Amino acid sequence: MAVEVYLSEEKIKTRIKELGAQITKEYAGEEIHIVCVLNGAFMFMADLVREIKLPVILDFISASSYGDETVSSGELKIKMDLASDVAGKHVLLVEDIVDTGLTMKVLRKNIEERGAKSVKLASFLFKPARLEHETHIDYLGFEIEDHFVIGYGLDFAGRYRELPYIGIYSPDQD
Ligand code: 5GP
Repeated sequence: MAVEVYLSEEKIKTRIKELGAQITKEYAGEEIHIVCVLNGAFMFMADLVREIKLPVILDFISASSYGDETVSSGELKIKMDLASDVAGKHVLLVEDIVDTGLTMKVLRKNIEERGAKSVKLASFLFKPARLEHETHIDYLGFEIEDHFVIGYGLDFAGRYRELPYIGIYSPDQD
């Protein structure tokens, strides 16, 4: 199976080093409470935290938004909740991709309502062509065109997450 490489391993590595340096500088003197949004962000989070030279607490959440065509108000469905209390913490949400923006909109609100001291967002990818809900991304890996991408944590029907690069999914791959 050949997948067209869209963002190479080298390119990803270089960008994550830059993001880690920027985060280290901007949070200097603080501890960061990192919230990895499962499943897609696991690989990005693992690489990013190794480039952040500050104390971090790692926690994980699995959530999706009830954001189908009929409901765009954005209810959050939490499949697996955080293990820790984020009240008073500097929370950095780590997400794989912002597409319509709904998931991040409702998740950010949810974390703010738990009393976090600050909430910022690091997203590996952003697809501006599909954005419907204004989303501020504080730390962005790459802006991409309107392709369905796989690899580096992102799946198609549960597969391809292990690829070390971002590829463009095409149906004749399967
Ligand atoms: P949003 O709420 O921003 O529309 O949805 C974000 C979620 O949709 C992501 O966390 C991801 O799970 C999924 N998603 C959006 N675009 C893509 C894509 O190109 N590839 C993959 N694998 N998942 C995507």
